[in-house]
Amino acid sequence: MIIRYEIKSIDSIVCLPGAGILRAVVEIEDDISQLFPYINGYVKKARYLPKIPWIRFPFYGFPERLNIKYDIACKSNQIIIGKFTSNEEAKEIVSQAIKFLNFISDNRDNIEISNKEWAPPSAITILKYLPQTNCGRCGERTCLSFSVKLSQGDAEPEECEDLSGKNLALLKEIL
Ligand code: SF4
Repeated sequence: MIIRYEIKSIDSIVCLPGAGILRAVVEIEDDISQLFPYINGYVKKARYLPKIPWIRFPFYGFPERLNIKYDIACKSNQIIIGKFTSNEEAKEIVSQAIKFLNFISDNRDNIEISNKEWAPPSAITILKYLPQTNCGRCGERTCLSFSVKLSQGDAEPEECEDLSGKNLALLKEIL
């Protein structure tokens, strides 16, 4: 499989201008969900939801392993990759991520699949870690609606600019 793709956007994760944390949204021409069980078997700490289908996993570059941890969330025809500090970095890591997906595709015969489903924390559990001020700066009207987005993998904890320190670290651990 040669995965064809187009970078649709490279945006700031945090709503503040100049926040400097970027993520790339990439549209994939082919349905890549068939690769998810292989990624789930190959990558440590992958989080797989077969019913959506959706998978999220840490990414350290490919083929060379970098000292930076990126984060990739994949749906059938879309991947979201972060976190970057420049457009150039984003484009380079997107290219490496596509190479990685093609590597998984090319080596399917040698990779043990895993259909183990990740059990995401509930929105109520996530809410306990949020400031609960309902300030709206993440783009959601309430912290609860933001926690629903987090539980569905549609948001990043850093989008809540008041979340930091221990609570941020703990939330990232369970998501
Ligand atoms: S930015 Fe944080 S505190 Fe404000 S509404 Fe969103 S989740 Fe709640």
